[in-house]
Amino acid sequence: MRSLDVAVIGGGPAGAAIALRLARRGVDVALYEPSAYDQVRMGETLPPSINPLLRELRIWLDFVALGALVSHGTAAAWGGDEVTARSFLFCPYGNGWHVERARFDRMISKAAEKSGATLLPARVRRVRRAVGGFDIDAEIPARAAAIVDATGRAARISRGLGARHIRSDKLVCAARMFPQRADELLRDTFVEAVEHGWWYTAPLPDGQRIVACFTDAPIAARMELGTPEGWAAAAAAAEHIGPVTAGRATGPVRVVSAAAHRLHPCAGPGWLAAGDAALAMDPLSSGGVTSALRMAKAADDALLTGRRSPYAQLVEGLAVDYARQYSESYGWETRFPSADFWLARRMPSARCG
Ligand SMILES: Cc1cc2nc3c(=O)[nH]c(=O)nc-3n(C[C@H](O)[C@H](O)[C@H](O)COP(=O)(O)OP(=O)(O)OC[C@H]3O[C@@H](n4cnc5c(N)ncnc54)[C@H](O)[C@@H]3O)c2cc1C
Repeated sequence: MRSLDVAVIGGGPAGAAIALRLARRGVDVALYEPSAYDQVRMGETLPPSINPLLRELRIWLDFVALGALVSHGTAAAWGGDEVTARSFLFCPYGNGWHVERARFDRMISKAAEKSGATLLPARVRRVRRAVGGFDIDAEIPARAAAIVDATGRAARISRGLGARHIRSDKLVCAARMFPQRADELLRDTFVEAVEHGWWYTAPLPDGQRIVACFTDAPIAARMELGTPEGWAAAAAAAEHIGPVTAGRATGPVRVVSAAAHRLHPCAGPGWLAAGDAALAMDPLSSGGVTSALRMAKAADDALLTGRRSPYAQLVEGLAVDYARQYSESYGWETRFPSADFWLARRMPSARCG
């Protein structure tokens, strides 16, 4: 059986960035990732605060080569019918981006490989504690002195080690892709609050536009948002999103979980969880990828020194910032005081902090 210093499980932004950092420090690290990054991945809008993180990771030139679309700002019909815009013009970090997430994630894992990490194309089924570390049950098994759970929202590996998943909502996303038009009404990121949740649309570098509805799973089921008919009816009823989707040919509806949660604890002897596995945020924050890279920045020290508390404090700080932003953002929208979706977001348990 292969023997490793660290096994990172999951090659999304969190896991790939941790593998990259550890490999650069001379650690014998392997990155388990079952996919070939050949399927569409959600999470395509990156805020300006990603820029210093990509530079610090020394993958800025790789990122530029991806040909991401510049995002100049966001616009929203939130808290009122009128559209308000926020430009990134005066943002100290510059502009934001729209990326193809599968290519973005692959870029980081390739950088990790180039720096000496071993990519293991396998799904990890289970991890068991063993003498001096952990046994990794996968098609390519290994024994590792330490492990990182970077498997995303499900956080299966950490839960298998006894950590608790504290869920704060039942958010789902029902998304469809449309071919981008030259005369597009909404060009950059746009968000619209509606009675049953909120809509989001953004352009993608491959000439497509994503249009997605975020709501709670029971509401999505009631509205049949997973069907083309249910989705189209809901889109048509949204004042600003309706005209963007009207009469346009499109593909199937893809429904994915976007449920927010926190893991407790986020680290233990010889292991830590990073990215969405540790703290999964409501995508309204657009902060999932930047948080994943921030956790990665602190994770290598935690793994190499065994000092977990600075890492746990960082995750706690991210959760507190997120909870504040969450309360403010959802608090701004007061037009639907008795709607289930908005009522659920006024409960203190809806926050992850
Ligand atoms: C609908 C939606 C829209 C979003 N929009 C945005 C956005 O616009 N901007 C933004 O910043 N964030 C957004 N997010 C959040 C963002 O996508 C996540 O925060 C980010 O992907 C977290 O990265 P991660 O590496 O922790 O997890 P993930 O990106 O989920 O990666 C997990 C990886 O683990 C692998 N994996 C899973 N199980 C196993 C296993 N058993 N063995 C081995 N590998 C495994 C998976 O294949 C995957 O590559 C969105 C999220 C959702 C759900």
